[in-house]
Amino acid sequence: MILSKKDNHFYLKTIPIFALSKTIYYTIMQSIHTYDFSNKRALVRVDFNVPLDKETLEVTDNSRIRAAAPTIKHILENGGAVVLMSHLGRPKENNEPRFSLKNIVSEIEKVIGYSVKFAGDCIGDGALEMSKNLKAGEVMLLENVRYYKQETAGSEEFAKQLAKHGDCYVNDAFGTAHRAHASTTVVAKFFPNDKMFGFLLEKEIESVDKVLNSTAKPLTAIVGGAKVSSKITIIERLISTVDNLIVGGGMAYTFVKAQGGKVGNSLVEDNYLDVARKIIADAKAKGVNLYIPVDTLIADNFSNDANIEEVVIDAIPDRWMGLDVGSKTIEDCHKILLDSKVILWNGPMGVFEMSNFEKGTKAIANSIVEATKNGAFSLIGGGDSVAAINKFGLAKEVSYVSTGGGAMLEFLEGKELPGIKAIRD
Ligand code: AMP
Repeated sequence: MILSKKDNHFYLKTIPIFALSKTIYYTIMQSIHTYDFSNKRALVRVDFNVPLDKETLEVTDNSRIRAAAPTIKHILENGGAVVLMSHLGRPKENNEPRFSLKNIVSEIEKVIGYSVKFAGDCIGDGALEMSKNLKAGEVMLLENVRYYKQETAGSEEFAKQLAKHGDCYVNDAFGTAHRAHASTTVVAKFFPNDKMFGFLLEKEIESVDKVLNSTAKPLTAIVGGAKVSSKITIIERLISTVDNLIVGGGMAYTFVKAQGGKVGNSLVEDNYLDVARKIIADAKAKGVNLYIPVDTLIADNFSNDANIEEVVIDAIPDRWMGLDVGSKTIEDCHKILLDSKVILWNGPMGVFEMSNFEKGTKAIANSIVEATKNGAFSLIGGGDSVAAINKFGLAKEVSYVSTGGGAMLEFLEGKELPGIKAIRD
């Protein structure tokens, strides 16, 4: 039970250990803001699963390294040493060289401004010798934890070996927080009083909390993307929370067809028509303003060079397909968003990867930016809306852009992520 929460940094939990004597013990869930790192080796789980150039194996996008840098620097500047652990890709067998974290050592050094020692393994005597001798202010990187299949299997014995590298454990890998792997979850149990979130993970939790437990209203969620089936749980979760729910992208056509509209060749999941009808009914019962696009850009084939027309969304001619929302929808969404105090965006409004069908997604991004300037809190959470906001160069103009795709989706669905639970328990 959490007794108090101060500045989001410090939590007290009661743990009744001896029920008979009714003794109540207080334990502290550590916070990176207040923890004393001096002369401690912090085992830090980061998500350095970065893209590499296929030929040169150089890092092509270092955003995940930059995202973890504040945590690493904080520990070093507060007298600690840092042992970094991460996975990279999905190696099928041990030591596939293209998945070695050795490839990213120089990029980490560049980003954090400290030299980084590399251990050729993540467990075993050699690596342990290196971490034991690490001095305050020094950084080392363990080899890819996924070189061992015990990592994804969540092996306790493997986690125990990893735990030997640190006096405390910091989880800053939001991207893998939904996995109950050895380095993301199981390892935490070996640090009962010395485990904490890193700044990045803490920020992700705070941002979702600001949306799902918001008292500021109206709260608007935009859920787009390809399919109803992959977003149904998040929609069901959001419908009890939001004031406005804007449905966009490919999944809108299932809603339109469910109401008897003609959608031509648009993406439709026929086995989700009943689900769509239920969502419409639930929204009505709960007083949620469910906004389904009213017009659409249609194409005569799935290509940027296709012939394009704008039509009302429930009268799409045969053989044509809707690939973006239309101008009236853009205008309506703009009004809803400018009136909102809290905004969550997950999933694009159209096939934004093609320039002729990016307009709706771009317009939503711009409306969110404008609402944010007017004081709204905006969270861009989940895969392709993150890609979209980056593509339009607007990531810095919104309140927060999540770093975790699958993890964010599961978090928004209301699931307790194992990596987060392991720190809190
Ligand atoms: P998701 O990963 O479910 O958020 O889906 C994102 C994908 O949905 C993107 O690749 C978009 O191109 C695609 N998408 C968005 N709108 C449509 C549409 N009208 N028809 C087909 N695909 C779409």
